[in-house]
Amino acid sequence: MSPQCSDCGDNAKFLWVEAQGLREANFAEVLDHGLVETLLKDNPEPTSLCAGCCIERMSNALEAGNISYLEVCSPKGEAPGFVVPMGY
Ligand SMILES: [Zn+2]
Repeated sequence: MSPQCSDCGDNAKFLWVEAQGLREANFAEVLDHGLVETLLKDNPEPTSLCAGCCIERMSNALEAGNISYLEVCSPKGEAPGFVVPMGY
């Protein structure tokens, strides 16, 4: 993982891992064997991101998949990050 965000150069705190090929039928394999033997093996190299750029990618992915969400908010405290409520 690079210490710098690949999109803007800020400090990276997240690792973006593509999940092409992930389906309901093989999801258990990811849990059983881990990312290294499943998603990381079959997808592009992971990308280091800052919180803002990670949120932007998540928003774009959700909108491209026609998935709606209620909000994206930051956690309390000083740590960079975010919380995505899955439902109320
Ligand atoms: Zn960034």
